[in-house]
Amino acid sequence: MDYPTRFDVIVIGGGHAGTEAALAAARMGSQTLLLTHNIETLGQMSCNPAIGGIGKSHLVKEIDALGGAMAMATDKAGIQFRVLNSRKGPAVRATRAQADRVLYKAAIREILENQPNLTLFQQAADDLIVDGERITGVVTQSGIRFRAPTVVLTTGTFLGGVIHIGMQQHSGGRAGDAPANALAQRLRELPFNVGRLKTGTPPRIDARSVDFSVMQEQWGDDPAPVMSFLGSRNQHPEQVCCYVTRTTEQTHDIIRSGFDRSPMFAGNIEGIGPRYCPSIEDKVNRFADKDSHQIFVEPEGLTTNELYPNGISTSLPFDIQLAAVRTIPGFENAHITRPGYAIEYDFLNPQDLRHTLETKFIQGLYFAGQINGTTGYEEAGAQGLLAGINAALRAQDKDEWYPRRDEAYLGVLVDDLITMGTSEPYRMFTSRAEYRLILREDNADLRLTETGHKLGLVDDQRWQAFNSKREAIGAERQRLETTRIHPGTSGGDAANSHLRQPMNRDQTLAELLRRPEINYRHIADMAEGHADDPAVADQVEIEIKYEGYISRQADEIERLRRNENTRLPDDIDFDAIGGLSNEIKQKLKEVRPETVAQASRIQGVTPAAISQVLVHLKKRD
Ligand code: FAD
Repeated sequence: MDYPTRFDVIVIGGGHAGTEAALAAARMGSQTLLLTHNIETLGQMSCNPAIGGIGKSHLVKEIDALGGAMAMATDKAGIQFRVLNSRKGPAVRATRAQADRVLYKAAIREILENQPNLTLFQQAADDLIVDGERITGVVTQSGIRFRAPTVVLTTGTFLGGVIHIGMQQHSGGRAGDAPANALAQRLRELPFNVGRLKTGTPPRIDARSVDFSVMQEQWGDDPAPVMSFLGSRNQHPEQVCCYVTRTTEQTHDIIRSGFDRSPMFAGNIEGIGPRYCPSIEDKVNRFADKDSHQIFVEPEGLTTNELYPNGISTSLPFDIQLAAVRTIPGFENAHITRPGYAIEYDFLNPQDLRHTLETKFIQGLYFAGQINGTTGYEEAGAQGLLAGINAALRAQDKDEWYPRRDEAYLGVLVDDLITMGTSEPYRMFTSRAEYRLILREDNADLRLTETGHKLGLVDDQRWQAFNSKREAIGAERQRLETTRIHPGTSGGDAANSHLRQPMNRDQTLAELLRRPEINYRHIADMAEGHADDPAVADQVEIEIKYEGYISRQADEIERLRRNENTRLPDDIDFDAIGGLSNEIKQKLKEVRPETVAQASRIQGVTPAAISQVLVHLKKRD
């Protein structure tokens, strides 16, 4: 057959993990095949078309720092941008964008189609070719055999996917797409530990049937932030408004009346869903004392009337969905364009993986994305990138690479997954990282782009932009540390106009910036030569203002290592420990570990949680 069938890397699945994996491998010079069910669904967002948010934007910016596509596509597709937690510290600040799903897909497809070394092919992969303990290729649905020493599997929710709406169920990879049953069967024959998880999505609503006048408006930030380090707000399409409404007591009554036909409560769904992103029936059941839940009403795009009502994911029967939706202010006449549903799918225990996301049992085979028990586009994209990098490295006979927990959220994500596994869909939170002040979204490029360049992931344009920024940051820091402001001069007067206590001696600009009431804009007026680039100014401000906290964090990490065997008192009240998720508190209460070391080995108890426990113990002393 006169068709290329030999590659260095084969990626199966063109979702968020698969596209980043294929792009990374191809950028590194490996001949790469992206084999996917349907080229039209490359980069499709199965659920809410939103990218970023708390913990997740950190991953998006890390992907970007390593030359990936997600942030750049978001800048071209985002119809509303906001910085969440903008009044909190920089560690937890997070950029979120509502995207136009059509524009997003188009942006991803354009990047894929123009990537040298990358071949796209539309066909289901039904089988893996395994020779002893090595992968050697893939067989498609129509029997085409593609060969490669490395294969990255990124099949999302498609393995053995079953869709539930009320008591009805049918096979599907997501609404409108067939599942990957042959491949699921094949994976069950191989020595992997397969489990079931579930996730859900809300009904979509036609905007023309909605009364927005009774809802609260929610506009994006002005000026809008950008997602990519190379992004510009000139790339953003038209920006639109989102809205907020709430469920009512009547909504909850109707939802309760459908409990007997809920696949979740009737036991038809065995897979565990995301606890922090529960369905509306789950919220009504678990938080029975709450008479209302918030709903963010988010447009799905600029050229569609469909709305995504964020907060009412459900698998209740359609008649209940419709009746419940129509009790929500603004939705009294709502026309549902697509019913909500839940999907159950196979995932593979990530404890069977190495830090590179290569499987322990079959050399050259990598898993990335939802297949590893995660949820979210960002988590998928980040894993895809890492798996693509390592597949290319292996194909090129080079040493593996993965970031440590103190280098990237990607390091935290993978380390959490492979050491603790997961019993429910894993999503990223800033609380999962113990080195939060170091791993900020704003410095992802400073943490990773140099490595990306060494790996061959970063193109010249990004590398030059990065170097100019890094030099500008260094120069500006130097200027602030050495420029002195004298009382009684025009600079001193400018300083005093912002200071709570007037200056009584010379101070450097950096010393002034360390004062809580002073920000970079203030010191920009005090002496000539300030940074014009807001990203440089932000970076210098954060580095100087938080210097003390960052070094304290480093000490804390050191203490954490020393304190591993510290005993936990019998009467410790885990509920009283600040900063722990309910999930972790529950696990600690169940196990009641005797030592910090034991607590740290409980599945799901993160190093970040351990540091909170240590802080609590210190306060008790
Ligand atoms: P996917 O995006 O699912 O992509 C998988 C790709 O692989 C698809 O292109 C598919 O066609 C292809 N494929 C699969 N099998 C084969 C095969 N054998 N051969 C060739 N191609 C194949 N995330 C959240 O963060 N919050 C949510 O609330 C949320 N809700 C969700 C609700 C639903 C109903 C669904 C389906 C997903 C939801 N997600 C949610 C998850 C989010 O969509 C995924 O985390 C993300 O898309 C995972 O990316 P991925 O690349 O791993 O897989």
